[in-house]
Amino acid sequence: MSDTGPIDLHTHSSVSDGTETPAELVDAAVAAGLSAVALTDHDSTAGWDEAFAEASGTGLTVIPGMELSTNYGPASVHMLAYLFDPLDPTIIAETARIRDGRLHRAERIVERIQADYDLTWEEVLAQSVDGGTIGRPHIADALVVRGYVTDRSAAFESILHWRSGYYEKYYAPAPIDGVRMIVAAGGVPVLAHPATFGRYRVIDEDTIAELVDAGLFGLEIHHRDNTEDGKVRLYELAEKFGLRVTGSSDYHGEGKPNRLAENSTSPAVLADLIAAGTGSAPFYG
Ligand code: AMP
Ligand code: FE
Ligand code: FE
Ligand code: ZN
Repeated sequence: MSDTGPIDLHTHSSVSDGTETPAELVDAAVAAGLSAVALTDHDSTAGWDEAFAEASGTGLTVIPGMELSTNYGPASVHMLAYLFDPLDPTIIAETARIRDGRLHRAERIVERIQADYDLTWEEVLAQSVDGGTIGRPHIADALVVRGYVTDRSAAFESILHWRSGYYEKYYAPAPIDGVRMIVAAGGVPVLAHPATFGRYRVIDEDTIAELVDAGLFGLEIHHRDNTEDGKVRLYELAEKFGLRVTGSSDYHGEGKPNRLAENSTSPAVLADLIAAGTGSAPFYG
């Protein structure tokens, strides 16, 4: 809780696939000595108010955010969105559509798994909060309870892998539509972990140029899932297009090994981000 503490712009609570409630996440951010944290649950803003309330009086700045799912051909591309209006009708309608698609897709994945394993849909639902954004991590947690796998990572490497035969995609808008929607709601879009698969799997330059024209603000380069040669390519793109560079943990509580502030963002970039966002305000706790 100091002005000089690290800035972490990508975290998840139990509103999506993190294991801590928004309040517990804020407590963890204070304990870790962060100066600012962004709550970026998948396709949901439902945790914002609880995070703000918990941060009150702690000195922690909470940046309201979200990690929007988008589909880029066969690839799932995640778009961080900050400081947008959570009541924007397009944001509300589109995130509701994505969450609904995720729910039915998870049910179908579970139906396929049921051909080979004892697992009920109720056991999966028990791993998520009411109205939360459902994903494979909740199926993973139910598989852990059953004893089929030891942890989420093991589940993703086996039963939940996209090549497992049980997998299915879910509806999400194209990245360009995601950027336009975020910007129209006064928000600030940043491409999340864009180099997960290596240098040559980074979104192609023409598409980045389109996203920049639509208002893309930055690239999340400092993230444990970006490959080293991918980061080199991302720096070239950031330089060429005048994009800001962010870094963050992608903290999921106990759901992933990622620790708060293991990567962070500079105060100058956060100041630019706050200046660019007009749809909602940071909460200065
Ligand atoms: P889904 O959105 O349902 O396709 O599931 C993807 C989510 O699972 C991502 O948001 C990650 O947070 C999480 N995830 C992906 N790989 C792993 C892993 N190896 N261990 C734990 N969580 C993972
Ligand atoms: Fe996640
Ligand atoms: Fe992500
Ligand atoms: Zn994330």
